[in-house]
Amino acid sequence: MIFEFNNFELKVRAVLFDMDGVLFDSMPNHAYAWSHAMTQFGLEMTAYEAYLHEGRTGSGTINILTQRYWGRDATEEEIECIYAAKSEVFNTLPEPMPMPGAFEALTAAKELGCMIVLVTGSAQTSLLERLEEHYPGFFREDLMVTGFDVKRGKPDPEPYLMGLQKASIKAEEAIVVENAPLGVEAAHKAGIFTIAANTGPLEDHLLKDAGANIVLPGMMEVACLLRGSINEK
Ligand code: MG
Repeated sequence: MIFEFNNFELKVRAVLFDMDGVLFDSMPNHAYAWSHAMTQFGLEMTAYEAYLHEGRTGSGTINILTQRYWGRDATEEEIECIYAAKSEVFNTLPEPMPMPGAFEALTAAKELGCMIVLVTGSAQTSLLERLEEHYPGFFREDLMVTGFDVKRGKPDPEPYLMGLQKASIKAEEAIVVENAPLGVEAAHKAGIFTIAANTGPLEDHLLKDAGANIVLPGMMEVACLLRGSINEK
């Protein structure tokens, strides 16, 4: 498809979708679980801060807090312990719902003839299984980058570079749909045109400052934007 926006014109062959906060409304659960798990260890983290760190690896997030409160990185054991506590809280919460508008955005991307690539830092097997349940036929296992694949999480460009590699395309042939500042930063550093869907409590300028080319209020608007480029084709 030809994607036109302001002065941009891209021949897009793939749309790379983040998962948490884009395809599933799972961020409130993650933020709640992080903040409650950290408190058990005397580490104070607000839900808002959890949103700021979205996309970081578990150990990366934990070390930011232990540096602040303990003046040092967490040991392997501590990381395991805190992450287990986070997962335990997360698993008690109701299943995250699909994000409103995500199905429409995926449909628009598919109708444009684009490959659909998943690029997530998540290694939550339950959510990956739920992708097929809620978005049947959109995702291919060979076009998925998950927390199991990457060494350096977002904001490192590695996950998005790996996504490009799996789709065998160049950065200028892709669009990224992200919701988090660190995810946007990763995509931007990978040289990819990035649409931010601001589905959480953060201010728009945080996404803009991270390098988003467009900031929209939600996934329905992303779907409309993509559909707009169908009509212009
Ligand atoms: Mg996200």
